[in-house]
Formats: sequence, C-alpha cells, structure tokens
Amino acid sequence: MDHLFRRCPFEPMHCPFCGAHDTKVIDSRLVAEGDQVRRRRECLACEERFTTFETAELVMPRLIKQDGSRQPFDEEKLRAGMQRALEKRPVSVERLEAAIAHIKHKLRATGEREVKSRVLGELVMAELQKLDEVAYIRFASVYRRFQDLNEFREEIERLAREPSKD
Ligand SMILES: [Zn+2]
Repeated sequence: MDHLFRRCPFEPMHCPFCGAHDTKVIDSRLVAEGDQVRRRRECLACEERFTTFETAELVMPRLIKQDGSRQPFDEEKLRAGMQRALEKRPVSVERLEAAIAHIKHKLRATGEREVKSRVLGELVMAELQKLDEVAYIRFASVYRRFQDLNEFREEIERLAREPSKD
C-alpha cells in the first residue's frame, strides 16, 4: 500500500532530526475518517522516531489504459489537456481548478485502486461540457478519435494474436 500514499507537501521529506532521507515506517494507520494516514517513522541514520500525517488527498486510483498497461494518475497531464481544450475560452482558472478537484473527487469516490482511463476521459468531458461548449467539443473530438484509434489498434493486435483458422 505504501506506494499509494504520497507525503503531504507540507510534511518534511526527510528526518526532522538529522535530515537523512532514509526512513522506515514502523506503524501506519488511517485517521481523520480515512482522509489521512498517520505514520510512525524511524530514521535509519540517527534512529530518531517521528510521526508524519500524509494526506489521502493524493491517493488516486491508477489508470488502466486500453492496452492493459497501468499508469499513475497525473494531475498535470489532466490540467494540460483541459487547458488545451479551454485555450482562449472565457473560463477562469478558478473554475478549471474546481473542475479538476471535482474530477479527482469522483475518481477517488469510485473506491477503486484502478480504473479504466476511459472513466477519466468521460469525467473530463462531463466537466468540460459544464464549463464551455466549445472546449467540450474540442476535447471530445480529439478524445473520441484517440479512443477509436486505440480500439482499432487493439482489434488489429487481437487478430494478429489469434491463430489462423486453417
Ligand atoms: Zn535522522
């Protein structure tokens, strides 16, 4: 489970006593109704113990791509994609950020550790549709084309894998 949690940016990334980066988790539990992970850590260099609170804000399901490969949720990539669709459109940064927060919330709310990347694509389209019709159409046309292309490629690969019938 460890890799699922990233330390809250406000927490030190190193031992607060000696500054070493190698620490070991000796106890780990969910707190704040599951929104935070409280961890007891021990520094491997000076052996001091300390506690970190790691926010579950960053715990996002991994994305299952169409070819079956997994990749971590990438907020920057999501933002960049939406910004591209919203280019020169009358939508404030605040509204875009709210939409991103909403998408992340929905992804987390699936309760899944992995979701199909298509789920994210659909969430993005739903948010863009609320924000700006032009941005929505821009994104949807690129996205759908991409999906179709992937499906086409998958079909080709599937056919190539299947033993010939003769
Ligand atoms: Zn230390």
